[in-house]
Amino acid sequence: MGEFLTNAQGEDVVAGVRTPMPITQMEEKFPEAYKQFVDVCGILENHYRDMQDMEFTVENGKLYMLQCRSGKRTAQAAIKIACDLIDEGMISEEEALMQIDAKSLDMLLHPTFDVKALKAAKPVGKGIAASPGAAAGHIVFTAEDAVEHGKKGEKVVLVRLETSPEDIEGMKYAQGILTVRGGQTSHAAVVARGMGTCCVSGCGDIKMDEANKCFTLAGKTYHEGDALSLDGSTGNIYGELIPTVPADPNSGYFGRIMELSDKYKTMGVRTNADTPKDAKQAASFGAQGIGLCRTEHMFFGPDRIPAFREMICAETVEERKAALDKIEPMQQADFEGLFEALGGYPVTIRFLDPPLHEFVPTDEADIEALAKAQGKTVAYIKQVIADLHEFNPMMGHRGCRLTVTYPEIAVMQTSAVIKAALAVKGRHPEWNVVPEIMIPLVGELKEYKFVKNIVVETADKLIKAAGSDLKYEVGTMIEIPRAALTADEIAKEADFFCFGTNDLTQMTFGFSRDDAGKFLPAYYANKIYEFDPFARLDTVGVGKLMKMAVTMGHENNAKIHCGICGEHGGDPSSIEFCNEIGLNYVSCSPFRVPIARLSAAQAAIKAKKK
Ligand code: PEP
Ligand code: MG
Repeated sequence: MGEFLTNAQGEDVVAGVRTPMPITQMEEKFPEAYKQFVDVCGILENHYRDMQDMEFTVENGKLYMLQCRSGKRTAQAAIKIACDLIDEGMISEEEALMQIDAKSLDMLLHPTFDVKALKAAKPVGKGIAASPGAAAGHIVFTAEDAVEHGKKGEKVVLVRLETSPEDIEGMKYAQGILTVRGGQTSHAAVVARGMGTCCVSGCGDIKMDEANKCFTLAGKTYHEGDALSLDGSTGNIYGELIPTVPADPNSGYFGRIMELSDKYKTMGVRTNADTPKDAKQAASFGAQGIGLCRTEHMFFGPDRIPAFREMICAETVEERKAALDKIEPMQQADFEGLFEALGGYPVTIRFLDPPLHEFVPTDEADIEALAKAQGKTVAYIKQVIADLHEFNPMMGHRGCRLTVTYPEIAVMQTSAVIKAALAVKGRHPEWNVVPEIMIPLVGELKEYKFVKNIVVETADKLIKAAGSDLKYEVGTMIEIPRAALTADEIAKEADFFCFGTNDLTQMTFGFSRDDAGKFLPAYYANKIYEFDPFARLDTVGVGKLMKMAVTMGHENNAKIHCGICGEHGGDPSSIEFCNEIGLNYVSCSPFRVPIARLSAAQAAIKAKKK
């Protein structure tokens, strides 16, 4: 695309004060200069083998080129440009993949309009298609209002005469931005594209009355709170809420880039999913398995948490077993859903790892309900809760420590996993259903063996009774420095290692993962650390432990497979490190799966070049 203004300076285009003309009109106004301009564009783009952003001026009919650089692009443009350059024979598939900023793919996962609903809707106006995407929400006229409503989870569309840098906070909370003035290169458009937010700019038909918070378009006056939808790809404006549908990374240019990523990547990409719904979403984004199912997250729902609380607050083995009997069928049903969603890909189920304080009731009504369910007094339950209090819950009675104290929990969970796998294998004999049971927060071989023995005994009994040949694996998370330091020992008994880099970062730095945000900014300001180690892997320290654990693990167990399931599993630079140290897979949240697929391909391409 291109824009120009006559009798103007570049600043006039960027400021968005005047609406520029499309470049095609230059052909009519200055045919000679236009022809020359098109020729120069071709020369420059062929030379740089990339899409260029070019600035020019025409003075007294003569063309001057002012500047050229590789053009900034939206994710949508980046994948099209990459595919076009491959098809034109300009660059190789590998070069094309390297050209795309993996993180930007996030923007392509925003919803689009439901095609049928869009067809049925009639536009009430049209502006410039400034930033792609679909936005449907209620009108607000100021950035402050956008923040206020957006924070409450309400969907808003910000309508402005033009935007300025003070509006950025509001733009972040808006589904879409509509401006009366400006073109594709004005502030609103550039910022919106950077954020991946839909924007329609330069709709000059709008009669704006900012003071009274209303505008008129096509004979109708719109007030704050009225419905509005914007199509950032066509510039169409609709006076209604058009339903949206989730993005589809399996078709078009996106699908092609994902296919190419899978062709070049050598690591697997799995997902962290706790519910069948999330697992299905991730599978549709190309996840090749579940790398982490946090089983405690299956109990957040109001219908389930009471049984979980009964388990936590049980005082005797009998009471705990009674609560576990209620939990087991819920777990089994969920596990079946996970195996079904992944259609035969590996599913790693992590045993309970709840910091207990997240689950004990604090509300008087919940405490009363628990007391009633347990046949105890409220005072008694309050005492049990007080006894559960820990000064450092994240380093407290969680992970495998729960099973060491209450082995019946591991019995129940193993039973639920194995029964679910047997049921799904029965329904789909063609699938390779191999559950991977993962034991969290291990720091010592004997501790791991203690839990593993319970798993093996319970699982083998069930499989034998079913007359099945079901295979299963038992492995551990490596998330405590001591586990990494003794990985050679643990590897003798583990089928797999999965790096829990959230806890491994927490415990290697000694930074609380819940509180570090308060003091880390001072570390950045003083240039002690450059980035948040919870978001981007600290390859120097935490990475050293990981590398050591992988190497020592393989020395004692050649067949061991290793992955990562901390937040870093969806971060491009961390993924590159994981590839370097020879991990078999990364696992990340469903919406990061496409990013991880491309990042893994880029890491493999880089590694080949070294
Ligand atoms: C981790 O510690 O990296 C991990 C994946 O487990 P959680 O975040 O549940 O502690
Ligand atoms: Mg952890």
